Amino acid sequence: MNKTTLQKIKTDLAARKDKIEKELAKFTEGNEDAADARFPQFGDKEDENAAEVAAYSDSLSLEDSLQNSLKDIEKALQQIADGSYGDCKYCGQAIDEKRLLARPASSACISCKNRLNKS
Ligand SMILES: [Zn+2]
Repeated sequence: MNKTTLQKIKTDLAARKDKIEKELAKFTEGNEDAADARFPQFGDKEDENAAEVAAYSDSLSLEDSLQNSLKDIEKALQQIADGSYGDCKYCGQAIDEKRLLARPASSACISCKNRLNKS
């Protein structure tokens, strides 16, 4: 991969990282107890309580997926730093550049990804 492409991906990753960190900060912003603050209060009736629990678990899974994306991005940035970026973690072949430009945190090539999705 040439340096220009790598630089472009690095910038993209940094921008994504920044955005996700801001999203994650919303979960804890201005609150002493993050878990408590996330728990919405709709009311005390039974159906209202159920809605609170649903909203709470939605917010937890969103936070989870943001944290996973952040981990992938940080790993990709680390790999750029140590020069191992762009290699498929399953077969070790270089991942297609177009794929990396579209999804810079990808850690598997298309053929491995397809194989895993089928199994
Ligand atoms: Zn592969």
